[in-house]
Formats: sequence, structure tokens, C-alpha cells
Amino acid sequence: MTFSCPACKGKSPRIDRVFANYGMGDPRNGPEEREFICAVCDGKGNATDEDSLRVQIGRAHKIERISRGETLYECAQRYGWSSVEVCAMEMGKRGAKVPPTEAMDGGTKE
Ligand SMILES: [Zn+2]
Repeated sequence: MTFSCPACKGKSPRIDRVFANYGMGDPRNGPEEREFICAVCDGKGNATDEDSLRVQIGRAHKIERISRGETLYECAQRYGWSSVEVCAMEMGKRGAKVPPTEAMDGGTKE
């Protein structure tokens, strides 16, 4: 079953206006349009049950982590992951690592 992606609400890829910074004094610095491709659905705009579950677990993890006052960095240290990996997991990106089961006690345990 597929449905609208929970992360981008089916609006991926989309064009966003950002302020580009290529480094101090670079003439390309300034407003620029960039295409963003959703990392959950890979820009397809729809998601599978698995994508949806991953996003739910990531959100629950983030809420639980923040409620304990733990930073992304501290959590990464505890898991032996990089901060980028923890961030990707909390965003529910495809290919992200799965949090250790003992980490989910306050969250989505069945
Ligand atoms: Zn998406």
C-alpha cells in the first residue's frame, strides 16, 4: 500500500528559495533556487507502510530524547553512531539505521 509521504506530504521534489553561501566574498552568494528531494520518499511523493513506520519511530525517538534533555550528540555517543546517523534516523530517511530496542522504552514499544 502506498500513500502520501508523511515527511513531505507528497510535495517532493519541490523548489525552495535559499540563501546560498559558497564562502566569503564568493560572487555566487545570494538568493538561489534549489530543488529539494525528500529523503523519506526519494522524491516520489508517496510512501510505503515501511516509510511511514520509520518516520513514526524517528519522531517518537526525537520526542523521547528531547524530553530527557539529551542532545543529538550525546545520543550519538551513547549509540556509538555519528550525529548525522542519529539525525537521519529521527527524520525517518530511507536507509537510516534503526535505533537499539532498549532506546525505545519511552516511545513506541508495543
Ligand atoms: Zn517525501
